[in-house]
Amino acid sequence: MNFGYREVCLEHDTGDRHPESPDRLRAVRRALKDSHGVKYDSPNDADLDLVRTVHDADYVEEFREYCADGGGHWDADTVAVEATWDAALASAGAAVWAAEAAGPEVPNRQTPFALGRPPGHHAVGDDAMGFCFINNAGVGAQAALESGADSVAIFDWDVHHGNGTQDIFYDRGDVFYASIHEDGLFPGTGTTDETGVGDGEGANVNVVYQPGADTADYLAAIDEIIAPAIADFDPDLLLISAGFDAHEHDPISRMQVSTEGYGVMTRRMIELAEDRGAGLGFVLEGGYGLDTLSDSIKMVNEVFDGYQPVEPDDDVSEEAREVLDTLASQAVGSK
Ligand SMILES: [Zn+2]
Repeated sequence: MNFGYREVCLEHDTGDRHPESPDRLRAVRRALKDSHGVKYDSPNDADLDLVRTVHDADYVEEFREYCADGGGHWDADTVAVEATWDAALASAGAAVWAAEAAGPEVPNRQTPFALGRPPGHHAVGDDAMGFCFINNAGVGAQAALESGADSVAIFDWDVHHGNGTQDIFYDRGDVFYASIHEDGLFPGTGTTDETGVGDGEGANVNVVYQPGADTADYLAAIDEIIAPAIADFDPDLLLISAGFDAHEHDPISRMQVSTEGYGVMTRRMIELAEDRGAGLGFVLEGGYGLDTLSDSIKMVNEVFDGYQPVEPDDDVSEEAREVLDTLASQAVGSK
């Protein structure tokens, strides 16, 4: 894969013991050193006018000044230093790069993966939250639309709900958003009945699983609900909001997705994008175990390099089955 990365993303210093630390990117880069087919690009900063198409101008200015004044605790979890502004523009720029580098004609081995931080999916139009300042995937989607794509689908497999991304595109018909997330975790949004409003009606899908959902449950959500909905939507670009905190050994969630599971989900995304003639790109979100994060990204890269991941042989859990049946009946009811 081609990874979009800049050193400035390490300068966003969240202090000791913050789970969203620069060590995350260091660990990933170390792990990818021995992997086949890894290339790096150095994306430009995101254009400020583009950032202002998904965030309020007043908020962007407030965030810029906050960093210029030395930063601090924006809220209990969301920390900025002076360099956070530069890191955030680089991180959003990497997502723009991924969105623009993706295309149906791009060979699998050159699929772009934006390896930036701070992450983005909790940032709403007018506020930072949950470690996020600029909604990277949102800015990337907007860039693709402005470069000629008619529509973009964002699939968010981070263990948390991407409330920011949902919020930004909730009333829009040109960006589809789907998420699988753990019930009871931050930020508490993303119920199954949130399906979009106005032009965005039907272009928002939330699969809310109980703690303990595993790879088989995630695959069932993709195969039965999310992939068919995205295929129906028929986007020109499929962006993955790729957090790896649903991993079975991630310290902050109770989900049970295996490293191999991220490989199988990646395989599904390749098939879906090929089937619809859509471009495919990845944007890093969360993932807080240094080993599990780097092993999982290594796995994603290996799948693009030709590795065939092993399908799980266990059945969908009863709890997951109930959620999927509810979503299926909702979809039928809306037609
Ligand atoms: Zn997360």
